Amino acid sequence: MNDKKIWLSSPHLEGNEQKYVQEAFDTNWISSEGSNLVGLENDLQNYLGQNCFVGALSSGTAAIHLGLILLGVKAGDEVICQSMTFSASANPILYLGATPVFIDSELDTWNLCPKALEEAVLDRMAKGRKPKVIIAVHLYGVPYKIEEIREIADKYEIPILEDSAEAIGSHYKGQQCGTFGDIGILSFNGNKVITTSGGGVIITKNKELKDKALFLATQSRDEAPHYQHSEIGYNYRMSNVCAGIGRGQMEVLEPHVTLRRKMHDFYVDLFKEVPGITVFKTTNEDCFSNYWLSCIMVEPQLTNGIDRETVRLALEGENIESRPLWKPMHLQPIFEKYPYYGNKVSETLFEKGLCLPSSSNLTDEDRARISEVIIRLFQHK
Ligand SMILES: *Cc1c(COP(=O)(O)O)cnc(C)c1O
Repeated sequence: MNDKKIWLSSPHLEGNEQKYVQEAFDTNWISSEGSNLVGLENDLQNYLGQNCFVGALSSGTAAIHLGLILLGVKAGDEVICQSMTFSASANPILYLGATPVFIDSELDTWNLCPKALEEAVLDRMAKGRKPKVIIAVHLYGVPYKIEEIREIADKYEIPILEDSAEAIGSHYKGQQCGTFGDIGILSFNGNKVITTSGGGVIITKNKELKDKALFLATQSRDEAPHYQHSEIGYNYRMSNVCAGIGRGQMEVLEPHVTLRRKMHDFYVDLFKEVPGITVFKTTNEDCFSNYWLSCIMVEPQLTNGIDRETVRLALEGENIESRPLWKPMHLQPIFEKYPYYGNKVSETLFEKGLCLPSSSNLTDEDRARISEVIIRLFQHK
């Protein structure tokens, strides 16, 4: 077996990151303040446009937690969340003692199904439990049904928390993902399109909300010479060292998105002659996806019984990582007791879907190794 592992999604540093990190060391600003934090926030504000305000935090999960607080979620409230997502979209609902209500996916974008969403809102309202927030996710970098979801949110006056953790660089009608929600978030975890080693940001529509987020993120210290607190605080600020990595990564964001999209093109080409396998892609020309992860659907009745697990194990046998899609939250032991609305679309996606190596630093040699496994598997069917 080749001893170089091909990862699903690995960090891809280019060099300038260290220059900014060195600057933090040289000036001794290695904690929760400094020019890298200001620089990263400004870079993102310029990149995202829409007069948005960006606050740098310790993770995307922290950003979702603070976002829910800013949108007024309290213990006992209900919060709607896409079921097919990473658990970090939903965990902060429980941090706050609120109740998640899970919604199924639709087949075009694999994101919130507008029909199931409206059905859920109406049913919760009929039970006297109007949801406080809708958490909408751009799964694998593919924008959710922006206009349909916004229409429902506005009709029932429920704010959207836009989980854009996987979608920096994706856009809809030219507007960047992360700017569609009442509050948005990005993640810079090591496996995302760009990284700060670990980190994330909150995106707000006004400076007051950003300032409030950073106040909460730095232990909610009131104005006073001593430490005075009238609200619960959190230790969620990004460090100026991590922000330095982020500044370097912002310089290569566009080329890295192009490289992820090239991986997607590679899979479209690789599977074009394979019946029963489709590469997931956007069908709406207003949507531009960063294709954070390239995913396939495997239909065993069309592949002579080869299912997604067979494909996964064949790749694993050659030291190549792949992974089933996110297991829907309403099927997770920790979340299965909460309400769920939908038609089991996400169950089918989970059963048949597989994420393939998608890093921006994969080489021709890596791609040749992946091709070889796939070609061998489907020749022997
Ligand atoms: C990665 C991710 C998060 C959490 O981000 P962290 O920075 O790892 O805390 C949240 N939601 C989704 C959909 C993610 O993929």
